[in-house]
Amino acid sequence: MKDFTTQILSTPYVKADAHRALSEPIYSNAAFDFETAEQMELAFQGKIGEHSYSRVSNPTVEHFEMRIRAITGAPNVTAVGSGMAAIADTLLLLSYAGSNIVASRHLFGNTFSFLETTIKAFGVETRFCDTTNLQEVEAKIDDNTVAIFLETVTNPQLEIADLSALSVIARKHKTPLIVDSTLTPPTVFRARQFGVDIELISSTKCISGGATSIGGLIVDYGAFNWTHSPKLSALGRKFGPMAFQYKLRREVFRNMGACMSPFSAYLQSLGLETLHLRFERAVSNCHRISAFLDTHPAVKAVSYPGMKSSPFHELGLRQFGDAPGAILTFELASREACFAMLNRLQLIRRATNIYDNRSLIIHPASTIFCDFDPEKRAALHISDTLLRLSPGIESPDALIADLEQALEE
Ligand code: PLP
Repeated sequence: MKDFTTQILSTPYVKADAHRALSEPIYSNAAFDFETAEQMELAFQGKIGEHSYSRVSNPTVEHFEMRIRAITGAPNVTAVGSGMAAIADTLLLLSYAGSNIVASRHLFGNTFSFLETTIKAFGVETRFCDTTNLQEVEAKIDDNTVAIFLETVTNPQLEIADLSALSVIARKHKTPLIVDSTLTPPTVFRARQFGVDIELISSTKCISGGATSIGGLIVDYGAFNWTHSPKLSALGRKFGPMAFQYKLRREVFRNMGACMSPFSAYLQSLGLETLHLRFERAVSNCHRISAFLDTHPAVKAVSYPGMKSSPFHELGLRQFGDAPGAILTFELASREACFAMLNRLQLIRRATNIYDNRSLIIHPASTIFCDFDPEKRAALHISDTLLRLSPGIESPDALIADLEQALEE
């Protein structure tokens, strides 16, 4: 088995380029020409792999998908317009009025809002629960449950659930296990080894190469028996484990229209080439910075699953090695102290997003979660004294020096 980067760099192209370009060219056209009507018919039926229209498929996007297939081992990969599009397409595909999704109560704010509001309007209930409590998860499942959904490391609570144990519950109840693995890229997380059926990724984050573009990925391991899915059972009988992919490509993804642009696919394909190196550095910075903050008198608490003191340390090691994401959170005495500290930073940027090449910091309560009332924020464990830091790939000494001067009263 080739290592991650070698695999990426040696993924073959579908067709040789006329000019022997080393990277897949950016095909930014909308439509493709056919030599005959018969060829065109076969393409529309999906019987030949030719492209017809770039919202449906595109050579540059296809090459990016092939690289993800090569590194994950998943037979079905669909690149979409954003991480939110990956989540929305997948959950809309599986659900129907009267169905329910059993989901972690700790989720990225927009995902939470999608489940709590957007999909609810179509009669789909989300049963939020503590996915670290296996009994609670199991008690929420019934015959209308279409998925168990959680993040590998929750953003920003940095909670980790036992995926292998959840996959046993998912199998028992014939429900797919779907994870958003945005915080743990494929260099450190092999989703299938933990029984994950579908992996959703915001490739905007570390895959894109340092926040170059917005994108998402739906990675279907082709392992679930879709005859058990209330909505896909007929397709499951016809296409077996490929039923999800069939419905996605020939209906939901195509009809929702949230495709990835060829230019983004080009940037994200380039980003993949350096993902391993960049993420390794961000993780190492995260370890160094969390250790520094842990001893600082102005810091009330630090959370990073890579710290031995974290309640998720052991589980993190088992699922992601010594790289349980590259994000940490810490608490100061008050909201005012958080704002003052943010305003004193000189190198670390006050910005949303994670896994940029630059270090980014945010006060989640007043930004990502500002639309939520205080009770909801409390339920999501987003306190007014919490800061989230996503260390980039700058020198750890320079980052620590910036934090040190900003933490001084
Ligand atoms: N999932 C997680 C864990 C995220 O952190 C984010 C964005 O921050 C998303 C999904 C949404 O991704 P995108 O912004 O690409 O839609």
